[in-house]
Amino acid sequence: MKANNFYNKKLGILGGGQLGKMLCIPAANWHLKTLILDPTADCPASIVCKNIHVGNFTDYDTVYKFGQLVDIITIEIENVNVDALIKLKQEGKTVHPDPFVLRIIQDKGLQKEFYAQNKLSSPPYILCENKNEVIEHIETGKITFPFVQKLRTAGYDGKGVSVINTAKDTHKLMNAPCVIEQKVSIKKELSVIAARDVDGNVTCFTPTEMVFDDDANLVTLLICPAQINESLAQKAEALAKETINAFGIVGLLAVELFLDMNDELLINEVAPRPHNSGHHTIENAITSQYEQQLRAVMGLPLGSTETILPAVMINLLGEAGYSGPVKYQGIEQCMAIDGAKFHIYGKAETKPFRKMGHITIIDKSIENALKKAELIQKTLKVIC
Ligand code: ADP
Repeated sequence: MKANNFYNKKLGILGGGQLGKMLCIPAANWHLKTLILDPTADCPASIVCKNIHVGNFTDYDTVYKFGQLVDIITIEIENVNVDALIKLKQEGKTVHPDPFVLRIIQDKGLQKEFYAQNKLSSPPYILCENKNEVIEHIETGKITFPFVQKLRTAGYDGKGVSVINTAKDTHKLMNAPCVIEQKVSIKKELSVIAARDVDGNVTCFTPTEMVFDDDANLVTLLICPAQINESLAQKAEALAKETINAFGIVGLLAVELFLDMNDELLINEVAPRPHNSGHHTIENAITSQYEQQLRAVMGLPLGSTETILPAVMINLLGEAGYSGPVKYQGIEQCMAIDGAKFHIYGKAETKPFRKMGHITIIDKSIENALKKAELIQKTLKVIC
């Protein structure tokens, strides 16, 4: 690792949502200059970043021009213009994650092929061009129930995922290029966030358990450390390490895993950026995932990922049935709860299930943290 005068470099971030905001906070601790490209001037990051460039991060020219203003470029969202990042990289800019890797990760089909080629364990799959091809494969027996259909591109937070249990569900099939994956009998969903520095050193955050809301298909609760035995935790970390090394990423890689009923670990998907499943590291780890991302992309040594205290994280989602200017009903009462740390993203409008903020509860006992989380979920409502 060479001396690199990192504090004189400008960091460009594609995306100014909540993840961009939380990346700018440790950057400000080091007095780093950050520039953000986002379609909206008053995006969540605007409260902590003075340099919001308004523009579309999926547009070639916009990303290319933005990249010329900075020394190092990173992302808080995968859906960005990769061709512009490739050009910027060829012209000598530092771009993390590598745009060629980003291109693989943007497409769930290419991701699955990557896991197969690298012998990384993931549920069996086949690729289909459209709904008709899926139906043909059902008729010939190549696809069997139950299975999960996932759009290859542009899916997020469970949108673009359809669970097909029986022939009665086939009306739910989407008509687009997709991955068909065998439905896994899931015991738990886990996440391990790995980080790799420019010299190839890797650290992992403590495996975390993700609890989903079936209606919203969103993570509603995280438990860290995951309630699994030590040997499984080690296996999960080893798989995350193997995965980040296979991709050769500099920066973070969130590896989402299924633990099946036979205690096998399978990769669901990955994200090469800070991730919702690592929010709690702000309070419960020596280094947060956001600081770790900065350290990696700025060419610095990685920080300790050791857990200080257990944590439970809840997403603050827009209440069903409310769309409009946001109000946080009950928030003052909840602030009286010991160890509850509030993060409000600053989105002006709420919508059903929109991620409006999160709360991390740190406590020596996970049971106590869960009770506090339940109380907050009952008391705090995002309405308008
Ligand atoms: P997204 O990219 O939108 O987050 P995912 O691929 O992570 O979509 O799928 C969303 C959720 O759907 C998963 O967290 C899991 O609960 C369920 N799911 C996805 N794939 C499978 C599968 N093969 N078997 C069973 N459940 C699945």
